[in-house]
Amino acid sequence: MSWSPKSWRNRPAAQMPDYPDPEALGRVEARLAAAPPLTKVADIMHLRAQLARVASGRAFLIQGGDCAESFAEFGSDKVRTTFNLLLKMGAILRAGGYGEVVHLARIAGQFAKPRSSPSETIDGVTLPSYRGDAVNGPAFDEASRIPDPRRLLDAHRQAQVTIDLLKAYAAAAYADLPEINRDVGSNEPARPVSLFTSHEALLLNYEQALTRFDEASERWWALSGHMIWIGDRTRQLDGAHVEFASGIANPIGLKCGPNLEPDALLRLIDRLDPDNRPGRLVLIGRFGAANVGDRLPELMRVTLREGRAAIWSIDPMHGNTRSLGGFKTRLVQDIMAEVSAFFEVAAAENVHPGGVHLEMTGADVTECLGGSVKMSEEDLPRRYLTLCDPRLNRTQALDVASTIARLLRQ
Ligand code: PEP
Ligand code: MN
Repeated sequence: MSWSPKSWRNRPAAQMPDYPDPEALGRVEARLAAAPPLTKVADIMHLRAQLARVASGRAFLIQGGDCAESFAEFGSDKVRTTFNLLLKMGAILRAGGYGEVVHLARIAGQFAKPRSSPSETIDGVTLPSYRGDAVNGPAFDEASRIPDPRRLLDAHRQAQVTIDLLKAYAAAAYADLPEINRDVGSNEPARPVSLFTSHEALLLNYEQALTRFDEASERWWALSGHMIWIGDRTRQLDGAHVEFASGIANPIGLKCGPNLEPDALLRLIDRLDPDNRPGRLVLIGRFGAANVGDRLPELMRVTLREGRAAIWSIDPMHGNTRSLGGFKTRLVQDIMAEVSAFFEVAAAENVHPGGVHLEMTGADVTECLGGSVKMSEEDLPRRYLTLCDPRLNRTQALDVASTIARLLRQ
């Protein structure tokens, strides 16, 4: 069976919404297919080239942003603070002597969430789970939780505005960089920065509608973002998400959780990167601080043994979620522990520790605990704003960047 932008429809698709009105979905898909693409092939190729330098051990990837972008919390400040945070984290790594950093935001499309449970019960009332603003609403009432395809149009519009803002800030950041560099004690001259966008490619109706054929490269590209990734719950070898991602030319991320076996990983790499092209595939481990030392070595060993060009990155968030006082939270010490273990295992296996994948925000939230801000369980309700998973706040994210800078120097 040959690949096409719609060939995923012949495969089982996990975690996709059940739309009550398929005709309304069809109308939305037609509108998205006629809309201008959000990203350009040339920019995606630029990211591919930068990631190829990560693959060869000459650069480090910082990927980060919200767990779930929000329609309600959107504004230019939000985009600007995320942008500046990524830039500052990059400056911390460069000030630590690490030359090349690739900045990749979880933004402009990160609106859909896989969930571990299809429903949620509060005070004896059971409703379908919230699945991200592109699918349904976060409010705990029946009407909000019905999947509405028109939300895909709102997500697309917000993504477009976000990308326009990022372009404006990229130009302005060129001017701001001397100040950021001075803050972190670096005297490097400012140079243009490229900030790329990424999101989980969960909603394949949306992704298909924004996938376009490029005559010059003779390839299909997902023009919903620069990089897209496959989540840990949707990486079935014969499933719809792997099928879709296998045929597009963008860089692809693959979340690798604790139950991924080495053979299964190699088969996934065969599907997603059969030509073994540097910069095509980013393997994003997310095991938890307690499991990374058990699970990661054999996975790294097989990719090295088979000569795979795929980048290894670490997501120290999703394996370290815990519940405290009724809130989902994460401890900075667990996050740091998983990052440190990642560097240790990579050194032992002779693999380049290529990047980090974080849930974080430039805002002053109280969702994760620890780091150089003193916070305890009682502080969690104060500014707990995330729609889904707990994010590092600005200070905590900079703490993690400082730890990474130290690990990269060793
Ligand atoms: C996420 O990145 O928000 C996510 C759901 O991750 P994972 O697929 O690794 O659980
Ligand atoms: Mn998350």
